Amino acid sequence: MRLSRAFLPTLKETPADAQIASHRLMLRAGMVRQTSAGIYAWLPLGWRVLQKVEQIVREEQDRAGAQEILMPTIQTADLWRQSGRYDAYGPEMLRLKDRHDRDMLYGPTNEEMVTEIFRTYARSYRDLPRNLYHIQWKFRDEVRPRFGVMRSREFLMKDAYSFDLDYAGAQKSYRQMFVAYLRTFARMGLKAIPMQADTGPIGGNLSHEFLILAETGESQVYLHRDLLDFDVLGQAPDYEGDLSPIVDFWTSRYAATDEKHDEAAWNAIPAERQVSARGIEIGHIFYFGTKYSAAMGLQVQGADGKPVTPEMGSYGIGVSRLVGAIIEASHDEAGIIWPDAVAPFRLAVLNLKQGDAATDALCDRLYAAFDGDAVYDDRPERAGVKFADADLMGYPWQAIIGPRGAAAGKVELKRRATGERLELSLEDAIARIKGA
Ligand code: ATP
Ligand code: MG
Repeated sequence: MRLSRAFLPTLKETPADAQIASHRLMLRAGMVRQTSAGIYAWLPLGWRVLQKVEQIVREEQDRAGAQEILMPTIQTADLWRQSGRYDAYGPEMLRLKDRHDRDMLYGPTNEEMVTEIFRTYARSYRDLPRNLYHIQWKFRDEVRPRFGVMRSREFLMKDAYSFDLDYAGAQKSYRQMFVAYLRTFARMGLKAIPMQADTGPIGGNLSHEFLILAETGESQVYLHRDLLDFDVLGQAPDYEGDLSPIVDFWTSRYAATDEKHDEAAWNAIPAERQVSARGIEIGHIFYFGTKYSAAMGLQVQGADGKPVTPEMGSYGIGVSRLVGAIIEASHDEAGIIWPDAVAPFRLAVLNLKQGDAATDALCDRLYAAFDGDAVYDDRPERAGVKFADADLMGYPWQAIIGPRGAAAGKVELKRRATGERLELSLEDAIARIKGA
């Protein structure tokens, strides 16, 4: 993308109402525009990042055996009356009426709808297990929308729903999602820690929130340092095999939010291995048994011919919240530092002297080598402005090209994360960036 023609409305001043770094930086970098309280339009740079995050989520869901569908945002109240949640949900639900005066709602979540769909088609034990997910906008009329896309009213969520014949099957589905979540977040450069969460009336221990550590997190968390040191992507899991060793590693080390904090267990950890910090919730996995299947009459015929009420779980990831969370975890004074996997563009080519034939030619060649994955700062701006904008936008690599280097056929590469600079030939620069 050529910056001279791009729609990248950066802000010079720090927006006064943005309280946390990610919100400030997303506004300054022109990633989003608030259109009304807690509702955002995604502008080109933000939209690209959101799609990259979404794609990683999708790949890891697919790898774990979940299947993607797309359910609508608008639902009928009738579905929610079947589960009893229509009256129970409260003011976070946006309720609407259609022209025939029927009660509708903008979905805050999809347990009822997915149960209804599955109920229509599933007949026998051979139709299970199944895990269906979608990545769709949700609406929750939060009392206090704040921190930009972190707690918005309209937000993009991945929500998966598993259906199993028995508790052992439900545990397996739960573990598959547990491991898929670890990988998903690790691929985005995040250290996400699963923490025991409330199971409410369901009981048991199959509910975990995944949090990343960040000063601006809304929760206080306590954990064992081993969990931060673990290399999640070290080996590929076998989703059809036994995943309990992986899950057991994570659940045998202490990790809790303040709601679940246990002083005695915490004090048993050697002081130098204790980490207490603030955390941001980015995902939540939850087993809830037959709550919806029983209420909504979902039954299949078991192998012995008797009816079975499937065991269910739901698994959410805050896709749009993740964009903010990644920035909270990865930024400095100058701006965003995108992890390679979610960067809107891998490279920014900074032309320091527009119109100088050698400089233009070298810039063009480098830009062309990164088909669609680079921005080219060809604006008639001072070098300082280009440097500052590239730092703000956080592209992992900057290629700084001026007449002196161009005459010698050299590109100055800067790695945004470390500030490291290298002088390389065009070919070496391309190889270096592609190899990272
Ligand atoms: P929170 O405690 O932060 O309100 P929740 O428990 O209501 O979250 P879930 O219903 O488990 O959230 O939703 C799954 C995921 O969706 C959460 O882990 C979070 O990442 C994301 N999410 C929830 N509410 C919002 C929101 N208002 N804005 C952006 N993302 C959200
Ligand atoms: Mg909530």
